[in-house]
Amino acid sequence: MGILKGFCKQCGFCCTHVQFTIPTTSDALEWSRARGIQIVQSNEQWTELRMPQACLNYQSDGKCTLQDKGKPQACKEYPKNMIEYWERHGMDPVLSLTEHCGFKYVST
Ligand code: SF4
Ligand code: SF4
Repeated sequence: MGILKGFCKQCGFCCTHVQFTIPTTSDALEWSRARGIQIVQSNEQWTELRMPQACLNYQSDGKCTLQDKGKPQACKEYPKNMIEYWERHGMDPVLSLTEHCGFKYVST
């Protein structure tokens, strides 16, 4: 368990990358390795991957086209909404949050 400190410094990293977990034993893990997809962390059950993939709503000036037109709740709540998910999968939120992010996870 822990708490989040800091703030969004609007670096755009979470809008330009996708991060997801797959079962560690799955063929998908080998598939991901072969394609050079970054492995953020791994345990016996789950492996967290990250790859560059910009959201279609992300503009070259770093702004979101949905900013004032119904930006998804998941985007508004990131990364608070991910902490429980990461912990449930045995992931260390310190590693799940990129060094680019203005939020930092502090264990309590
Ligand atoms: S909808 Fe907007 S805030 Fe959400 S990922 Fe896309 S660009 Fe980022
Ligand atoms: S990675 Fe963190 S600092 Fe960067 S835009 Fe997303 S929430 Fe904000």
